[in-house]
Amino acid sequence: MIYDPVPIVAIATAPGRGGIGVVRISGKDLSGVRRALFGEAELRARHAHYLPFTQADGSVIDQGIVLYFQGPHSYTGEDVIELQGHGGPVVMQMLLTRCLEAGKESGLRLAEPGEFTQRAFMNDKLDLAQAEAVADLIEASTEAAAKSASQSLSGAFSRVIHELVERVINLRMLVEATLDFPEEEIDFLEKSNARGQLSGIRSALEKVFEQASQGAMLRSGLNVVLAGQPNVGKSSLLNALAGNDVAIVTPIAGTTRDKITETIHLEGIPLNIIDTAGIRHDADEDHEPGGLVNMIDMVERIGIERTWAEVDKADVILHLLDASRGPTRADENIVERFPQGVPVIRVWNKIDLSGHHASIDIMSDATHIYLSAQEHAGMDLLRKELLRIAGWEQTGESLYMARERHLIALKHAREHLMQAAEYAAQDDQSLDLLAEELRLTQDRLSSITGEFTPDDLLGVIFSRFCIGK
Ligand code: GDP
Ligand code: ZN
Repeated sequence: MIYDPVPIVAIATAPGRGGIGVVRISGKDLSGVRRALFGEAELRARHAHYLPFTQADGSVIDQGIVLYFQGPHSYTGEDVIELQGHGGPVVMQMLLTRCLEAGKESGLRLAEPGEFTQRAFMNDKLDLAQAEAVADLIEASTEAAAKSASQSLSGAFSRVIHELVERVINLRMLVEATLDFPEEEIDFLEKSNARGQLSGIRSALEKVFEQASQGAMLRSGLNVVLAGQPNVGKSSLLNALAGNDVAIVTPIAGTTRDKITETIHLEGIPLNIIDTAGIRHDADEDHEPGGLVNMIDMVERIGIERTWAEVDKADVILHLLDASRGPTRADENIVERFPQGVPVIRVWNKIDLSGHHASIDIMSDATHIYLSAQEHAGMDLLRKELLRIAGWEQTGESLYMARERHLIALKHAREHLMQAAEYAAQDDQSLDLLAEELRLTQDRLSSITGEFTPDDLLGVIFSRFCIGK
């Protein structure tokens, strides 16, 4: 990845109004920008200075705190100046414009999303897994998610990955050294206990994978589809599930407009609940061709298609039925559209009317749960079953906020390790093949912390950050 040393600037605080707003500048050498903004006023590194922020003609925009960090002792590893002013959108915009003007000669430009963190990565302030954790911490939607993101940001995840890499490297060196002395090959495996080392690395990797996949769940949550006829109690069930969780609030990014997904939290795991209320009427229902109706029809059709696309991403489907009435034809139609292979929980609601007891029944077609959303009877059975399907276990172990990318790398590393173990078990001891599998294992693991990560992937990772971070 090319390191473009031009200084960058951005408003680092969230848009809108707040007590304080921060404009942040980073560059290899900010002395020019500094002089243009504050003249000869002394700026001591890591000290707070209360100064006027002025236009070129000397008129005052705002008065606030200036912090100066001299590289490499800063977030980005470059010189950093932070201007803390009053957090109003107009003030912030004026400050930003003024900074750009003051930095014109130094080439100061607006920062891209994530560019400050990208520089921290390029300057070895953070490794890639830590940089990703910065974004995950900002985006965390539950306390548990924030906790595990901060765990990853502190470097705990990177450390265990490094330990694994070290162990792989040691073994690799041993194998490769033996390759150079073929006469000793025969008892190499016994002497060095290579097989024991291999299986030790494998079990360590399994543990990391476990902690990482649980952490990943806190990040991405479980996609739950809520299907069922009108009035069976979908909204009531959603409310009952949310319980004390005040957060029936977080709309999933990108779906705010169609409002088909709501997120609630279950033991810190986000459950992204996709309501299929929007797909009641069939998209093929006929309307007169042409005219406004057709337009509306088209818009609706797009909405319906999008909803089905969401449904196809389901981790679990809750099919709600009225226990006092039983299934209908429409239910059969819904069931037909369910994606294959996704676990279904058939929730029989309103048992207070039907006289059933709260219970769970695991049958071949689906798990059946009898409950009453209104009376809050049997809700724990449902919660437990959802957590079981999610594979959630509270072990008390610390979790690492991991991404799909990390999990895939860990899986590949595991495959190569298993292949390596196979070669190690063979009588003819295919040491060159074993060495190659270990090299691949090492590469996969190192891609997590960014030692061997292709540039285009880095670009994608940082572009998903917010501006100013
Ligand atoms: P939705 O259309 O599927 O979202 O259904 P609602 O949640 O809006 O519920 C429809 C009606 O059923 C409302 O009048 C609810 O009060 C009622 N209802 C929901 N759950 C229960 C239940 O467990 N028992 C009884 N008796 N009524 C319920
Ligand atoms: Zn409803």
